[in-house]
Amino acid sequence: MHVLIVGAGFGGIGMAIELKRHGFDDITILDHGPELGGTWRDNSYPGAACDVPSHLYSFSFAQRRDWSRLCSPQSEILDYLHGVARDHDVERLVVPNTRVVSCEWDETEQRWTATSDDGRAFEGDALVVATGQLHQPAFPAFENRFEGHGFHSARWDHDYDLRGKRVAVIGTGASAVQFVPEIAEKAAKLVVFQRTGNWFLPRKNRTYPPAVKWLIEHVPGVQAFRRQFMFNYAESLTMMIRHPRTWGRLGALRSALFMRLQLKDRALRKQVWPDYTFGCKRILFSSAFLPALQRPNVEVVTERISELSERGVVTADGSEHAVDCVIYGTGFRTNDFMFPMAITGAGGRELAEEWAQGAHAHLGMTIPGFPSLFVMYGPNTNTSGGSIIAYLEAQAAYIRQGLALMRRQGAGAMEVRPEVEAASDADVQAAFAGTAWTRCDSWYRTPDGRIVANWPYYMRDYFERTRVLEPSEFALHKRVPAATPV
Ligand code: NAP
Repeated sequence: MHVLIVGAGFGGIGMAIELKRHGFDDITILDHGPELGGTWRDNSYPGAACDVPSHLYSFSFAQRRDWSRLCSPQSEILDYLHGVARDHDVERLVVPNTRVVSCEWDETEQRWTATSDDGRAFEGDALVVATGQLHQPAFPAFENRFEGHGFHSARWDHDYDLRGKRVAVIGTGASAVQFVPEIAEKAAKLVVFQRTGNWFLPRKNRTYPPAVKWLIEHVPGVQAFRRQFMFNYAESLTMMIRHPRTWGRLGALRSALFMRLQLKDRALRKQVWPDYTFGCKRILFSSAFLPALQRPNVEVVTERISELSERGVVTADGSEHAVDCVIYGTGFRTNDFMFPMAITGAGGRELAEEWAQGAHAHLGMTIPGFPSLFVMYGPNTNTSGGSIIAYLEAQAAYIRQGLALMRRQGAGAMEVRPEVEAASDADVQAAFAGTAWTRCDSWYRTPDGRIVANWPYYMRDYFERTRVLEPSEFALHKRVPAATPV
């Protein structure tokens, strides 16, 4: 069985390792970039780090004890992923510089063909799409005549020197709060355009003192304890989001106390204070962002942006903020269509059409009408508090069970039963009722309010539901030439 994986980030690499460990040796990983790494290759903005502690944000089978700090910087995470891929001998499976533009299922041959933008074709008996939810940079829709420099946070222009420049940052999400404190020190003037305020919790993230590092490295159990502790902490964040009237209020109080201490200036405090339920959007962890906003060279603008003129950013009140550079911290296109390529399944059905009203898949991974297609970090598998890597590991093991089932049964393809997918989607959507996620607009939702990004339960629930792939939930198709359900 030849397995085609699109995406060489944590998902694709984790999938290949899982398959190799279970005797699947014929694997190809296609990636548009020059090397593996996914989001940790693409997002190299100053201050880029994962706000999920590394002891949790790492593969369970490749635990490291020598992280430099609680939340590792981007380069350390990228090195880690390279190291894990090398150790498991899957680095060589990556075909770099291969931007997949379409994937098509051939019913007669029972095979997927992925085609790259330069016309190369790659075939597989099964296809795993591991391109992630946060992949395609989003740019605001307003008119843009700006003649200065501009770039997105996920495509940082390291050749552009910000020292002494007047810089506008649009957006104050998880990325911007990491790079704003860094560039505030360099820019002559920094104007931060905030559309919505955020809830913050502290994160100093200094390098571990030598004694702590020594303890983690040398005392048995310390690292495992930290991982478990962080897992429980992450689950408690989910609990606050799931129960906004009770536990959520405690989280909001903790955040409000922290923010009150950080924001000395009353006018600024009023400006940046969030006006929505704690946990509805991503809770941001930073002890550096709010102080950076109070620097003399930094201005916060909350007036709505109407357009970019030749000289800078124009707001609805008619003010023009002249700048040399505009940095878009405006996030990613997540809910119009999750993947960066066209996917055509059985009978010529297009996934973009199937998902026109919002993406959905059984446990975020399998879709009726798309045989032997598996998705990693697909619909409703994002977490607001936990580690995506934990979800990816659960998905890799589940998908591997599916492929093993096909191999055992000598099947040519497998496909989730429509009623199974419909029931699991209904269950997931119903579980959002009463949670904080429903109480504001966010990138987790489509314009009509359906939540397509997040998993509504706890991490442990996802592990439980994906631990065993239930064969009866799938139709197995006989191998060609008789491609009919058995
Ligand atoms: P984001 O959270 O989607 O934030 C985008 C920001 O741009 C928001 O402040 C948004 O305002 C603003 N914005 C969008 N369109 C705008 C417009 N037309 N005018 C004005 N403002 C506009 O994007 P992100 O910061 O890149 O983060 C995306 C996700 O990546 C995060 O939620 C997280 O899951 C992940 N991430 C994780 C880490 C980590 O450390 N683990 C770090 C970075 C990113 P509104 O809030 O009003 O929409």
